[in-house]
Amino acid sequence: MTPCRRTDSHPLTPTTRRDHADRLLAAALAAAGRDWRVFPLRPDAKRPAFPDHTADRCAGTDPRCRDGHTGWEPRATTDPERIRQIGRASCRERV
Ligand SMILES: [Zn+2]
Repeated sequence: MTPCRRTDSHPLTPTTRRDHADRLLAAALAAAGRDWRVFPLRPDAKRPAFPDHTADRCAGTDPRCRDGHTGWEPRATTDPERIRQIGRASCRERV
């Protein structure tokens, strides 16, 4: 699930950007419905968006790392509400 981004150079119009984000969310929810765990990616990269640090640089300040570093694998989810939250957070600027 790649988050949408907001830049002045975005090639999509606001409507197509919203359609793209909606299709992306639908695809993520469909994958989760097949029991495939999904996670957000950085814009224009095939790298997980979270965590934003590696295990060797973990300061424990990320709430999910309080009891030890938590990488992207355990953060991946099939929870539809969590996926919708990720979609809303990553695409907040499109509203
Ligand atoms: Zn960490």
